[in-house]
Amino acid sequence: MAHVTRYDIDSLFQRQLHDWELLRCNYAALENVKTREFAIGSTRFRVQFNPARIISSAAKVDTQSIKQRRCFLCGSNRPNEQEGLPWSDDYVILANPYPIFPRHLTIPTLEHIPQRISGRITDMMRLAADMEDFVVFYNGPCCGASAPDHAHFQAGNKGFMPYDQDMKLNGSITQVAACNGATLGMVTNLARTAFAIQASSIDGGTEMFECLYNAMPIPSDKSEPMLNILCQTTAKGQWRIDVFPRRKHRPACYYTAGTDNILISPASVDMGGVFITPREKDFKKITAANIKNILDEVCIDANDAALIIKRMKQ
Ligand SMILES: [Zn+2]
Repeated sequence: MAHVTRYDIDSLFQRQLHDWELLRCNYAALENVKTREFAIGSTRFRVQFNPARIISSAAKVDTQSIKQRRCFLCGSNRPNEQEGLPWSDDYVILANPYPIFPRHLTIPTLEHIPQRISGRITDMMRLAADMEDFVVFYNGPCCGASAPDHAHFQAGNKGFMPYDQDMKLNGSITQVAACNGATLGMVTNLARTAFAIQASSIDGGTEMFECLYNAMPIPSDKSEPMLNILCQTTAKGQWRIDVFPRRKHRPACYYTAGTDNILISPASVDMGGVFITPREKDFKKITAANIKNILDEVCIDANDAALIIKRMKQ
């Protein structure tokens, strides 16, 4: 079973930056990317103007459109320049050519199978342990994944998303369950409702996640509960899994015509406090109130979270 080290990932980037012009240009552009800082109370948000991300933010993810395109995560369709590092028995680690992070990776399965988290949280935790400088994240098939038909994780540099620091400084975790060295807490004071699992073993973290997952509602037209997940090690042998249950994929402002239109398609990184605007006009006009409205619309509230906890305990 293949593992990776910090050195393997550094070398992958060195080679890809050297050999692949599109990737080199997009990482160079990211160094000069424009950002704006906002706060909702004491919770911080950053907005990043990232034109290359239009490919993801405006992606058509309906069944028909997905069937008609060639899957960009399948080995046979990937660009010739894109190199992969084998990981575990059934994944490959790729440098993401459309980055948000200074180092941004995509980790698809070798097989073309649907994006689902069920049965994969163990992989996510193992990956986070191998990639100790990174936060591994998961976008549900209806919550920001631009390849809902091909299972994958992504990863970006630790410390890049303000949510981490906000959790450390101001996060108030109300513990709701504890089992097998893992705890589950609810976080409601950081401008969105989230769950935080802290675990000292992969088994404990997996068990706690599965418990939470099984208590989350599945909308009638969806295949799994709507969610985004961030997973990282906080020390050797310690993990934190942040789960952001969702009630909506894209906010109303994504579809509105006229001046109220803002093209934002929130996924894990936005939940982590970095909002991506691929269009400059949106980057210039967006306000803290817009961010607050988008979060209120796409995330669950404390009442929804209480219902999930109640179901979990039954
Ligand atoms: Zn595929």
